[in-house]
Amino acid sequence: MPDPVVLARALFKSYGSFEAVKGIDFEVRHGECFGFLGPNGAGKTTIMRMISCSSPPSGGELTVLAMRAWLDGRRIKRRMGVVPQENNLDEEVTVLENLMIYARYFDIAPRVSRPRAEEFLRFVALEDKGDWPIPRLSGGMKRRLLIARALMNEPELLILDEPTTGLDPQARHLVWEKLRSLKRQGVTLLLTTHYMEEASQLCDRLVIMHEGRILVEGSPREVIERHTSPQVIEVFEPPRELEESLAALEPVADRAERLADRWLFYTTDGDAFLSKVRSLPVVPSTVWLRGGTLEDVFLALTGRGLLE
Ligand code: ATP
Repeated sequence: MPDPVVLARALFKSYGSFEAVKGIDFEVRHGECFGFLGPNGAGKTTIMRMISCSSPPSGGELTVLAMRAWLDGRRIKRRMGVVPQENNLDEEVTVLENLMIYARYFDIAPRVSRPRAEEFLRFVALEDKGDWPIPRLSGGMKRRLLIARALMNEPELLILDEPTTGLDPQARHLVWEKLRSLKRQGVTLLLTTHYMEEASQLCDRLVIMHEGRILVEGSPREVIERHTSPQVIEVFEPPRELEESLAALEPVADRAERLADRWLFYTTDGDAFLSKVRSLPVVPSTVWLRGGTLEDVFLALTGRGLLE
C-alpha cells in the first residue's frame, strides 16, 4: 500500500484560546474523493488551510504527499492544486492570462503553459472565453476557471473548499462531472461541502464534522446504514389536532424527530408506517416516504440539520 496522500493524527488547531479543530485523525488514500461534511464553523476550512500549507497546525501530526505540512510547504504546494472558497481571480486580466500568470509561480514556461491553459479551458468548457475579462463571467464560469487554474501545475492532489456553493443546479452538475473526470484520471480529490447530495454524489469516503470534531467516517452508504434507518416518513405542517396522535406513533418508529415544520419518523418498514399515518383520525395533507440520507445522520448525531 502506498503512503496515504494525507495523514492526520491528533491534528489540532487553535486561534488564541478558541479550539477550531480538536485533535482529529483521518487518512486520504490515493485516487479517492474524500469529503469533509459539516455545518458552518465545523472546522472544514481550517483543515483545508492546514493541508494546503497556508496555516500551521497547532498540534498533532499532518503529512501531505509523505511530507510534513507547513514545514515542507513549498515542496507540497508544487504538487497540489487548491480551489478556494472565495473567488480570488485576477480581475484586471483575461481568462487565459489568469491561467498563464498562475503558471509562472511554478516556473512553467509560456510555451508549455499556453497549450496547457487552452487544454484546461476546453476541459472546463470555457474554450471560447479565453479573451473575456473576469467580471464578464458568471459565478459558475468563475468556479470552473478556478478549477482550471488549480490544474495548471498538474497536481496529484486537488483541494476544493465548497466547490459549488452558490451555483444553480445545472452549473453544480457540470462541476461534479469535471471532478469525476479528474478522479478517473487518477487525481486525489479532497473537498468540503455543506451539501449532503454533493457528498453522496462525489465522495468515496467522508467524515461528518461538528464543532471541530469528527462524528463519523466511512462511505456515504456505510455512514447512512450505520447511523440512520433505511426509510423516513415526513409529515409536513401537521394540523394541531394531530399532534397527540403523531406523538403516540413515536414508540412505533425506530426514532422520531419533531422539527419546527414537520415530524420525521425513522423506520425499517416505511409502507407499514405510512398506513398507520393514513389511518389517523385526520389524514395530514403532505406525507411522504423517502430513503435515509446523510442529513438524517447529522440530525441523529447532533439534533440539528446541516444547513441550519
Ligand atoms: P464554513 O462552512 O462556514 O466555511 P467551516 O467548517 O469551514 O465553516 P472554519 O472556517 O474552519 O469552519 O471555522 C471553524 C471555527 O474557527 C469557526 O468558529 C471560526 O469562527 C473559527 N475561525 C476560523 N478562522 C479563524 C481565525 N483566523 N481567527 C479566529 N477564529 C477563526
